[in-house]
Amino acid sequence: MPIATISPLTGETLQEFKELDRRMMTTEMGKPLAQARAEVAKCATAMRFYADRAERFLADEPADAAAVGASRAYARYQPLGVVLAVMPWNFPLWQVVRFAAPALMAGNTGLLKHASNVPQTALYLEDALRRAGFPEGCFLTLLIGSGAVETVLRDRRVAAATLTGSEPAGQSVAQIAGGEIKKTVLELGGSDPFIVMPSADLDRAAEVGVFARVQNNGQSCIAAKRFIVHTDVYDAYAERFAERMRRLVVGDPMDTATEVGPLATRQGRDDVTGLVEDAVSQGATVVCGGNSPDRPGWFYQPTVVAGVTQAMRMFSEEVFGPVAGLYRVSDIAEAIEMANATSFGLGSNAWTNNETERQRFIRDLDAGAVFINGMTTSYPQLPFGGVKRSGYGRELSAQGIREFCNAKTVWIGA
Ligand code: NAP
Repeated sequence: MPIATISPLTGETLQEFKELDRRMMTTEMGKPLAQARAEVAKCATAMRFYADRAERFLADEPADAAAVGASRAYARYQPLGVVLAVMPWNFPLWQVVRFAAPALMAGNTGLLKHASNVPQTALYLEDALRRAGFPEGCFLTLLIGSGAVETVLRDRRVAAATLTGSEPAGQSVAQIAGGEIKKTVLELGGSDPFIVMPSADLDRAAEVGVFARVQNNGQSCIAAKRFIVHTDVYDAYAERFAERMRRLVVGDPMDTATEVGPLATRQGRDDVTGLVEDAVSQGATVVCGGNSPDRPGWFYQPTVVAGVTQAMRMFSEEVFGPVAGLYRVSDIAEAIEMANATSFGLGSNAWTNNETERQRFIRDLDAGAVFINGMTTSYPQLPFGGVKRSGYGRELSAQGIREFCNAKTVWIGA
């Protein structure tokens, strides 16, 4: 029987619970309600995408039989078995769905160890997939702490693991899985460059750049974090960018007018505060923000820091909050060199209307994605993942559904 008919996964079940989902995510981790709505819709789209295409993506792939001395030869994609998913809280539905939709459609089963601060969303997902028609036990949420991951991962019934989260968590899971010779996919942190060249539409680059920085209260792996601006347009861009950052509506994430809510944890805010303080202590300037508003919750003001150098922690570490660093460069070579000068390689963004420059950015930016005149995001139609210390493996697209498959060689003689 074709796999797609065994797994009747659709997005309708998620859409049905839209209101409940949105409030649940916002309550658990502080995401603005309007962005929670967008996340639910995106999950539904991804589920529909795989429901419609899984059979085609996993169809037998014929090879040139004569060239290999066979009467028939092909690759067949078969599920690996039980896949453990260790997931973060920042996009509590989406991170799980982008793994689960393709992996389950391929015939795997899933064990979810979600972040400890989003247990309701974790349990909701198990329920949603059951309602979508999956057989009992196909996708289970384990309410366990990170200390218990090793035991699950070493269990001989678990075939593979995927982790989205921080570098230390990724290292730990990959080490254990490596010892057990089990396949892993790692989606880790990022410090994406957002490059602005003289031919760019500066207003649009400022508008998109601000959203790319503060979406999800600044807590996104693919957020634009380092704004690398050509000196010819540096002042004009910095002014537009800072003006928009100042105007952002900071407040209760349940209020639909809110654009930036609180950070998810006190530790998260302390980390952001520490990075800004480090930059300022070494000579950087706070253009706007730079502090925590006096109100309950782990709020941090949308912030722009200028004069950041590569010696500052803000350059080399991931800033997981609404803080943008501005960097001035004198030409495209310097822009690319600076963009690539971190250990991360997740997304990258370049704004230019010059075709030669575009091609150079596409070729030379060392990242899992290059977005020209846009902001890095994920689509079911395109592969998603990083290089360098941002991880390995790919989610989404045809590649994502094959990550947890055995590409079995079939050779049939005369
Ligand atoms: P995190 O602390 O690494 O937690 C992620 C998950 O890993 C949680 O379920 C956590 O469980 C678990 N975990 C933590 N330490 C572990 C360990 N030693 N062994 C096994 N599991 C462990 O990351 P986070 O703070 O939730 O998320 C933020 C990070 O995720 C950022 O670096 C961000 O860039 C990255 N991220 C990457 C992507 C991507 O696609 N590349 C997407 C989103 C986020 P507990 O909650 O129980 O500690």
